[in-house]
Amino acid sequence: MTRRRALWTMSVALALAVPVLSLVAPASRFSDTPQTQATGPVIRLVYRALQPGEPMIVFLETDGTAKSASVTFLGRTVDLRPAPGGRSDFAFLGIDLQAKPGSYTMIVKVRKAGGTIETIRKELLVSPKEFPFTKLQFKREYVTPPASARERIKREAELVALATSVVTPEWLGDGPFALPHDAPSWSNFGQRRLNNNVLESVHSGLDIRVPFGERIGAANAGTVVLASDLYLGGKTVIVDHGLGVFSSYGHMSKLLVKRGEAVKKGAAIGLCGSTGRSTGPHLHWSIKIFNARVDPEAMLRLPLEK
Ligand SMILES: [Zn+2]
Repeated sequence: MTRRRALWTMSVALALAVPVLSLVAPASRFSDTPQTQATGPVIRLVYRALQPGEPMIVFLETDGTAKSASVTFLGRTVDLRPAPGGRSDFAFLGIDLQAKPGSYTMIVKVRKAGGTIETIRKELLVSPKEFPFTKLQFKREYVTPPASARERIKREAELVALATSVVTPEWLGDGPFALPHDAPSWSNFGQRRLNNNVLESVHSGLDIRVPFGERIGAANAGTVVLASDLYLGGKTVIVDHGLGVFSSYGHMSKLLVKRGEAVKKGAAIGLCGSTGRSTGPHLHWSIKIFNARVDPEAMLRLPLEK
């Protein structure tokens, strides 16, 4: 009896101490309205929609009591790191383009001074999203590659995976993400494709109608982790923005940066082209958060301070 009462008291105390997990997500826009909370750290989750292909940011408003924090979602645990502005820690998360809709638990662990850990759980419902379907025609060797090219394609896929597997534990970006070029896009992220009537694929980026030869700018500041001519992607640059966020620019006609180079937001990284598996000059722009392929257009709307 005594024991039960003690446990009950403890759970009430814990419940009172639990930080607020506020979900700030009107259906059509991001919001960063601060929540009023008298005491304790405040966790704020920002996203455009809880659907496949959507990026998210978890903010922990710094109140001095939290030493560190981590968030676990969709099988991945990520540490929160200082956000620009100095008032919060944050982490990026992504719901992969082909994630299965359903209910998933997000777990935030806040380590306090003195070693206590508060665990906050929140059920998040990832709703289904229908992506459009299209048929495309490419040169035969890009859809049914010859045996000689298959080894190269495999090797290059490993190279890309390796380049994006090392996570820089600090934010390298400079404010919000920006379009690499102001030409209109086809808004075709997630498009399901049937190529040459034989190969099914999913379009994991956004195609921007940049005229041939025009400069492509880095969508945010970061470090170039790949600048190579790939069989399928063509001349490609991948920029590491830190905290697991990578942007990739494909089918370019010329590379203007080298691996290891630091780039500022908007810096020219290459010229538009039609190299690799491409039907004509355009920029294939894609964003990965850890392994999740997310919509670059949603990325542009994440509230990031300079
Ligand atoms: Zn594309």
